[in-house]
Amino acid sequence: MKTTGATLDFTGAGVVYDDGAELLRALRDLTVSICAGESIALIGPSGCGKSTILRLASGLLAPTEGSVLVNGEPVGRPRRETALIPQDLGLLPWKTVLRNAALGLQIRRVPKAEADARAGAALAQVGLAGFERSFPKELSGGMRQRLALARALAMDADLLLMDEPLSAVDALLRESLQDLLLNLWKERGHTQLLVTHSIEEAVFLGTRILVFSPRPATLVADIANPGAGSSGWRDSVEFARLCNEVRNALSGQGASS
Ligand code: ADP
Repeated sequence: MKTTGATLDFTGAGVVYDDGAELLRALRDLTVSICAGESIALIGPSGCGKSTILRLASGLLAPTEGSVLVNGEPVGRPRRETALIPQDLGLLPWKTVLRNAALGLQIRRVPKAEADARAGAALAQVGLAGFERSFPKELSGGMRQRLALARALAMDADLLLMDEPLSAVDALLRESLQDLLLNLWKERGHTQLLVTHSIEEAVFLGTRILVFSPRPATLVADIANPGAGSSGWRDSVEFARLCNEVRNALSGQGASS
C-alpha cells in the first residue's frame, strides 16, 4: 500500500542528558528539513549521538534546545504513524512470530482480527509466510531482522526509523536485506531514517546522507544522493565516488566507519 511520507524538521535541536551525576551533551544545534518520502542515512562515529536523533524523531525524547516537528507538529510523544526498529529489534522471545509482528498494532489498540490480518500480510511481504507460529529463537538472524521490519510495516507507518537494523547479519545476507528495504521503501513511499555504520549501506539506501562529527553529534555534511535506488547503482562509478565522498567527510572528523 502506498503512503504519504511524513516531513521532519529539526531546528536548532540539541540534547543534553542528565544522568543525575553529570551532564552529557549528545547533540548540538541540528537544523535539517526532511521532505516526504526521502530516505535518509545517518552516519557518524560510534557513540556520537545518532540514536539520540532517532529518539527525537520518534517522540521518545524531547530536545533540550530547539524543536523537532513531524508534519509541522511538535512531537511531544510517540505518534501512531511512526515505527521505530531499535538496535536490539525489540522482539519478545515468548511470543510467536505472528504475535510479534502484530505487537505494534496491539499496543495501538487495533482489534485482534485486523491486527493479525495486517501482521500476516506484512510477514508475507518480508518473506516470512509460513513462520507465523514459530518463535524468534527458531529464526536465523536475517529472519529476525525481517520480523522486526514486518512489525513496522504492519503499522502502515509514514515514518520509519531504523537503528542499525542490519548490523548483526553477514555481508551477503546484508545485501539482500538492503534490497528488501529499498524495494519496500520504493513501493510504499514512506519517509525513512536509517542509522548505519556502513558507508556502502548509507550510499545504497540514502537518497541523502547526513554525516555527523564525534559526540556531541554535529552535522558536518549533507550529501545529496539522487542515484540511490536506481538499477545497477551498487556497481556504478558514481556509487564508488559517493562512498569516497562520505569516507572523506567522516575522516575529516577523525572518524572511521
Ligand atoms: P550513537 O547512536 O551514535 O552510538 P547515542 O545517541 O546512542 O550514540 O549516544 C550518544 C551519547 O549519549 C553516548 O555517549 C551515550 O553514552 C550517551 N547517552 C545515550 N543515552 C543516554 C542516556 N539516557 N543518559 C545518559 N547518556 C546517554
